[in-house]
Amino acid sequence: MVAERQQAPVPVCEVTNPFEEVQKHIDTICRRMNVDQGINARLRNCKRELIVNFPVRMDDGTLKIFTGYRVEHNTSRGPAKGGIRYHPDVDLDKTRALAAWMTLKCAVVNLPYGGAKGAVTCNPKAMSQNELERLTRRYASEISIVIGPEKDIPAPDVGTNPQIMAWIMDTYSMNMGYSVLGVVTGKPIEIGGSRGRLEATGRGCMICARLAAQHLGISFEGATVAVQGFGNVGSAAARLLAREGCKVIGISDVCGGIYNAKGLDVESAFRYSRERGSVVGFKDTENITNAELLGLDCDILVPAALERQICASNAASIKARMIIEGANGPTTPDADKTLCDNGKFVIPDILANAGGVIVSYFEWVQGLQSFFWSEDEVNSRLQNIMDNAFHEVLEVSQREKVNMRDAAYMLAINRLAQAITIRGTFP
Ligand code: NAD
Repeated sequence: MVAERQQAPVPVCEVTNPFEEVQKHIDTICRRMNVDQGINARLRNCKRELIVNFPVRMDDGTLKIFTGYRVEHNTSRGPAKGGIRYHPDVDLDKTRALAAWMTLKCAVVNLPYGGAKGAVTCNPKAMSQNELERLTRRYASEISIVIGPEKDIPAPDVGTNPQIMAWIMDTYSMNMGYSVLGVVTGKPIEIGGSRGRLEATGRGCMICARLAAQHLGISFEGATVAVQGFGNVGSAAARLLAREGCKVIGISDVCGGIYNAKGLDVESAFRYSRERGSVVGFKDTENITNAELLGLDCDILVPAALERQICASNAASIKARMIIEGANGPTTPDADKTLCDNGKFVIPDILANAGGVIVSYFEWVQGLQSFFWSEDEVNSRLQNIMDNAFHEVLEVSQREKVNMRDAAYMLAINRLAQAITIRGTFP
């Protein structure tokens, strides 16, 4: 198996506190918009943080203690919403940053949600299905004091998937005594999942890329694409971009990357990677490193792996004209400035990868009503919301003469400040 050749990724970017970076950005935008200091303080802090240390019986009979988190950043615009990550490097500050981005993301695309994130520090790739199920059910029980369909609704993120969402839904339902579809989204279709959810984040990236190409006057048909990360988001983005006529020339995952200047057969690469555990070794391609993939000469770059992939040390080498941030936080603030100075058009994560939470919202609505929509209906509603959000962000960017990231933050913070002001402060 190619996956056995897996190496730890070379850390190209300096390690800093991601939550402090989000806080700084929120402060900068609040100052620029003259947002009340109290509201700024609300937005730079998380509302609720739960840490759980819990035991899991491993297959060899031993007990292991795992640490998990559920952070609700802000609920001024509605229930908290955000994925659950299983990853060895996840900690409280990363979870806080991811929760804050969820608040901003839901506000940018105008969903009636606040933001949250959950995580368990673990390596799911090194665990059996039975161990993962026991870990998930125990973690779900531990955080069941804060989650629920009216208050905080988890979804998949890195290292989690529809099966894990099914176990969370089942565990919560067993404890309640009845089936609660709306407690989690990203579920399998058979138990109340939404059509189109699996590929929704990648579809949102594709829609953003198409809108950005239109805006820049670049032909979408035949546009060259490089995608970093070939998991849920990256694989869906690559497949949909290829179906739209773009030429995907490079793909990578944690094991490395593949390249063919004439274009890759993305569907076959997808099947290959699902059978072998990686894209590396796929026919008619040249092996490249993740660093080389990011620097490929192409029209569209989709970083869809993890945070902090484009940083001060490699930002100047990015050649793509458009960067569509499929991952959360793939670009550091320093790198963002370099990209901007070099005339790159960056669609920020809180807009580019919002397709997932939009269709999660549809799934939640369908579950609450027990009335399910066709895939066409889901996709056309997703298209409308992404289209509106893109144009609203673009309008702020042009009016305020700021880049798309700052414009998205301004749109979101304005909506959040209004909600906080109208609701007032209890008591
Ligand atoms: P995933 O676990 O399905 O896939 C992650 C992919 O990234 C895998 O192909 C993995 O091999 C690759 N990868 C990991 N480390 C890498 C590295 N150092 N270099 C290159 N590739 C690497 O996760 P996902 O759900 O696709 O999430 C990817 C990103 O998108 C994350 O930042 C996540 O927070 C964000 N996101 C996910 C969703 C969603 O609906 N799943 C929604 C919004 C944002």
